[in-house]
Amino acid sequence: MERVVIVGASLAGLNAAEALRDEGFQGQITLIGNEPEIPYDRPPLSKQLLTGEWDVDRLPLRSAEDLDALKLEFLRGRTAVRLDPQASTVELDDHSLVEYDGMIIATGARALTLPFSHELSGVHTLRTQQDALRIREDLDSATRVAVIGAGFIGAEVASSARARGLDVTMVEALSAPMLGPLGADLAAWATGLHEQAGVQMRFNARVSRLIGESRVEAVELQDGTRLEADTVVVGIGVRPNVQWLEDSGLTIGDGVICDQFCRAAPMIYAAGDIARWPNELFMHFRYGEPQRTMRIEHWTNAIEQGMAAARNLMLESRGERMEAFTPVPYFWSDQHGLSIMASGITAPRDEFRLVHGSLESNRFAAIYGLRGYLTGVVAVGWPRMLRRYQGLIRKQVSWDEALETAREIEG
Ligand SMILES: Cc1cc2nc3c(=O)[nH]c(=O)nc-3n(C[C@H](O)[C@H](O)[C@H](O)COP(=O)(O)OP(=O)(O)OC[C@H]3O[C@@H](n4cnc5c(N)ncnc54)[C@H](O)[C@@H]3O)c2cc1C
Repeated sequence: MERVVIVGASLAGLNAAEALRDEGFQGQITLIGNEPEIPYDRPPLSKQLLTGEWDVDRLPLRSAEDLDALKLEFLRGRTAVRLDPQASTVELDDHSLVEYDGMIIATGARALTLPFSHELSGVHTLRTQQDALRIREDLDSATRVAVIGAGFIGAEVASSARARGLDVTMVEALSAPMLGPLGADLAAWATGLHEQAGVQMRFNARVSRLIGESRVEAVELQDGTRLEADTVVVGIGVRPNVQWLEDSGLTIGDGVICDQFCRAAPMIYAAGDIARWPNELFMHFRYGEPQRTMRIEHWTNAIEQGMAAARNLMLESRGERMEAFTPVPYFWSDQHGLSIMASGITAPRDEFRLVHGSLESNRFAAIYGLRGYLTGVVAVGWPRMLRRYQGLIRKQVSWDEALETAREIEG
């Protein structure tokens, strides 16, 4: 293998490039990324960048020297438009072709938009540094902010806007924020957290249109309610960036479908928000039937999977046995001064139990179970507990064993 091409110059792609070098790869690495910036970190975009605590100089994932040391051919601001696995080429936006021996796909995901009104100024989604800067600029002069969608990104934007003293309303189609991943009990706790922080909330509410001439003035709900807003942030989820792979012959379906080694085809791997793969750690209880695959949209996974994909590409190139990628997924979300940490699978779930601490104290750990096994944990203010149950999830313990451990800890 002489040349590896990585498409997507962000968290997964950069970590893949570093892992290739760490594994001793001395050939050419071409990193293709369609954003103008050097690779930067996304989590601060909804947090420190919006509150104004940080500026963009804190966002780069690596220094210019560290990037130089990787000896990459970095095609910055370039878009891959087509992959041809037969010819082993990637076509770029200027129709030039880049050849590869090994390929890592790390094109991540993009924010979903409402089917209407995104042309109005003051209406935003949040995925890139440029999105965040535009939102921040609007927040500088905003008085009323509407956040559409109370998932993790929406809830973080609401929190950051409140920290700036703005009037914030969060509109959510379901009955509580983050209901899917947290479940009813913790979503009710999260409702209280946002209420105490002064966020106004409209649940079971759908947006029918955004009102305004050239700039947004209000959000209209399907029940006719009009919410005044001079800035609107839409956080209704993401879609994997698979459009450039449509005629590649790879299996696509809510992500690039890979095997347990993150391999989509011979010498082609995928990593990060775009990759869908069977995580063998969760197969003992038939997770995700019938496809039994997962796609993770979190920071730690993008790093770990980028590295795993690179290692397996190296192993395949040497004809050696590859290693299944079997992480216990982890993520955190910072809202109103608290860090919500989660690990494993929290949805779907059959079981939920608050095992330590109390919701009132904002310090607790809760566990989730499916088909008789411990599958997930959420902790607030208690990283040690999170790690403890994360370890048990890795050991594939039963739900009863997890409860037994909880009783022992409570002593
Ligand atoms: C605002 C925000 C806050 C977040 N907060 C948290 C958090 O608190 N905790 C947490 O765990 N996770 C968080 N995340 C999620 C985390 O940042 C992502 O999981 C991570 O960025 C995924 O990395 P990735 O490299 O797979 O994809 P991405 O970061 O999406 O990068 C993909 C790159 O590929 C580029 N690209 C796409 N198509 C092409 C193409 N055809 N040609 C060339 N380049 C292309 C994209 O422009 C992008 O630069 C947050 C995400 C956002 C947006």
